[in-house]
Amino acid sequence: MRYLYIAGACGSIGTQTLDIVRENKNEFKVIGMSVGKNKELAIKLIEEFKPEIVCFREGYAYDLSYNPKIVFGDSGLLELASYSKYPDEVFVNALVGMSGLMPTIYAIKALKTICLANKETLVAGGDIVREYVKKYKVSLVPIDSEHSAILECLQGENQDEVKRLIITASGGSFRNKTKEELRDVTKADALKHPNWSMGAKITIDSATMMNKGFEVIEAHHLFDIPYEKIDTILHPESIVHSMVEYEDGVIKASLGTIDMHIPISYALRYPKHKVLESKPLNLIGLKLEFKELSIDRYPCLGFAYYAAKRGGVYPAVLNAANEAAVQLFLDDKIPFLTIEDIIEKEIKDDKYENIPYTLENVVSLSHSLINEILLKYGGE
Ligand code: MG
Repeated sequence: MRYLYIAGACGSIGTQTLDIVRENKNEFKVIGMSVGKNKELAIKLIEEFKPEIVCFREGYAYDLSYNPKIVFGDSGLLELASYSKYPDEVFVNALVGMSGLMPTIYAIKALKTICLANKETLVAGGDIVREYVKKYKVSLVPIDSEHSAILECLQGENQDEVKRLIITASGGSFRNKTKEELRDVTKADALKHPNWSMGAKITIDSATMMNKGFEVIEAHHLFDIPYEKIDTILHPESIVHSMVEYEDGVIKASLGTIDMHIPISYALRYPKHKVLESKPLNLIGLKLEFKELSIDRYPCLGFAYYAAKRGGVYPAVLNAANEAAVQLFLDDKIPFLTIEDIIEKEIKDDKYENIPYTLENVVSLSHSLINEILLKYGGE
């Protein structure tokens, strides 16, 4: 039995994780969850899975049929991450944004296996998180489809023989639009992802291709591969979830149906496979297309490589500027292309050069930069 704590239980990854638990009650038990503003769903899931500890992230009145330990807000998330009673505990981090970083650190300190869907954890605090993982000897397993695919392609192989990782990108909601046509796109257009159904922030990040930039940074930290050996490629069908090329020219690819239950299930059971929840991929008649992913068309991808190579707190600056800019776009305060402008201005600024890369600095700088940008462009 594995004992699960699910941070972000009501979101896309959270509910799909709970689907797997529901079908496999002899394997998994939910001990904790954090829930957000969807009160109806939150109460339904709490009553169904009856966790011992619940973190409410929004203040609303509730009435439960039993008495779990109740905690609140960001400090509550840390209590959820620290809560520990069982032998084989797993922390599924499906939070959105910077709020995911500290709970990951606390869950590592509580010796939980980390199943990570929260990208910002590794983008903003990658080197720090890696140190904690090493120090506390826990496993950090990716949930994202691309990293899950790379993890599979690396099984049984020698890391020294890896020539490059090739991360695939669907192209996001605007893949058929020219740069010029992006000037007037709306929030509703951006939220229509052609292949995947996901939360609002990650869908916008996919449209700008920042999501792919984040995945490059995450891949670097997860697999300890230098940035020079991490490439991206446009693959509109999203069937090949990612690939690893070896020195002898062999490319291993992981293919599958477009269903996040597969990578979630792999992460929860890693290194074992047992996925009967998803329908098998039909290879007959399958056509796969690969194209170059242009940095001119998708500057955010270039910004991610730039910030990553600049190092220090720059990936955290990249993440914070993006988090604020996407929020502004979702609040109808800025047009789509201004997201790029806001990020570029911050990551090219030399003022962050001398800030030491520590956990405290990453957290405080991220929060102050997010607030500063929201105030400047949002006027509130
Ligand atoms: Mg992905």
